Amino acid sequence: MPSSTPVDTRALRAWAEIDLGALERNLTRIRRRLPAHVRYIAVVKADAYGHGLPAIVSRMLKSGIDAFGVANVQEGVRIREQGIALPVLLLSPVLPAEVPSLFEHHLIPFVSSLEELRHLRLRAQVHGEAISVHLKVDTGMGRAGFWHEEPVEEALRTFETDPWLRITGIATHFSCAGSDWAHTELQRRRFGHWLKRYEKACGLLSPELWVHESASFSLPKTWENSPGNAVRIGALQYGVGPDEQLPFVRSLALEPVLSFYTRVSLLKTLPAGVPIGYDAMATTERTTRIAVLGAGYADGISTHASNVAEVLIHGQRFQVLGRVAMDQILLDVTEAKMPLQVGDRVTWIGRDGEDEITANEFCRCSQRLIRECLCSISARVRRVYIG
Ligand SMILES: *Cc1c(COP(=O)(O)O)cnc(C)c1O
Repeated sequence: MPSSTPVDTRALRAWAEIDLGALERNLTRIRRRLPAHVRYIAVVKADAYGHGLPAIVSRMLKSGIDAFGVANVQEGVRIREQGIALPVLLLSPVLPAEVPSLFEHHLIPFVSSLEELRHLRLRAQVHGEAISVHLKVDTGMGRAGFWHEEPVEEALRTFETDPWLRITGIATHFSCAGSDWAHTELQRRRFGHWLKRYEKACGLLSPELWVHESASFSLPKTWENSPGNAVRIGALQYGVGPDEQLPFVRSLALEPVLSFYTRVSLLKTLPAGVPIGYDAMATTERTTRIAVLGAGYADGISTHASNVAEVLIHGQRFQVLGRVAMDQILLDVTEAKMPLQVGDRVTWIGRDGEDEITANEFCRCSQRLIRECLCSISARVRRVYIG
């Protein structure tokens, strides 16, 4: 749980500031745009996209969400340890050895095959307690799920009256929601056809059944011809999205939740012609003022940022000089307009004065995807909560 005493960040070399107020406002803005009957599955896998699961989950509860989505059992258990009783969905395939925990912690797996269904049913019977599952349909992602052309509906019918296995949801996942609307539409049509076949075999879909297809970037246009009554939202909640934002996403006016900072730990001046850092990836061209930062790739700053990335100190941009190392990064601060000091705050993601480095800019320099960047900020980086 987040501590209630304010953290003195002066003694931190690297920290991520998480604005829980911004998170709450983002959720409100997203929810306001969804039809009232739509259930909201808040996706908090990978330590809530690197924001820190316990604090994020507690704050989300205030926004009236309907369920959580996680990747694996451990993440589900961490939610249960907070005494939360909401449904928790496991969004990726479950290992046989994880199955006992599904019963112990009442986690709901996504199921992609008849073998898994039969196995879970058997384990439920042995355990003496029914299990709830969501069926996953592969409509063109080529990952988890029943391939949509596979004729499984008759086999699924046998589970309709099964006392040990309850199908409480049906889902699919779009592979190109932010990039290829035609493929997304194709996936949606396939999902619709699959549901019709399922209905024909197993009877009308009950309104109790959770039907979900959309994640963050397939929300626009979603409700015109969607069979869905639930959404799984990850990235949007944290206020991040593609650079070329879809008009729908832009209209939500979401706020970034995470800022990422390090500190200057040493300042020095070197003459011209000095090789800089590992593998001498840079050389000073003139008398150069260098700032040493107390963080590196072990904190989640990619080596792709070497000689490329920019950061902010006192609102001014400075460039990384030489190779990003495990625990230290160098900056050329010769052009500093204000005298710099050891302990000065360095912004990697966030606003400082008039300027801002967005998560997208940080990702471009790191040659990483936006979600990848967020969950690469390592456990060594303290999460500090505000708002
Ligand atoms: C991660 C994940 C989501 C959330 O995706 P965002 O694009 O971040 O909203 C939704 N559904 C599944 C199956 C996922 O794995």
